[in-house]
Amino acid sequence: MAKVFVDESLCTGCGLCESTCPEVFKVENNVAKVTSEDTSSCDIQDAVDNCPVTAITLEADGE
Ligand code: SF4
Repeated sequence: MAKVFVDESLCTGCGLCESTCPEVFKVENNVAKVTSEDTSSCDIQDAVDNCPVTAITLEADGE
């Protein structure tokens, strides 16, 4: 399972990631927070690719 990070200095709080992956992202005070490491419930790559400021990164763990 990949770890998800949001670069809060880049994030504009647009909410796109939250609408794609509501189980993983929660926008609070115009910044997306990662609320769950479990990315199995949604297309996390889609959320990464669609972030307009490329603030989301995935890091494979255990490798
Ligand atoms: S899609 Fe990107 S800019 Fe928009 S809320 Fe999520 S992390 Fe922030």
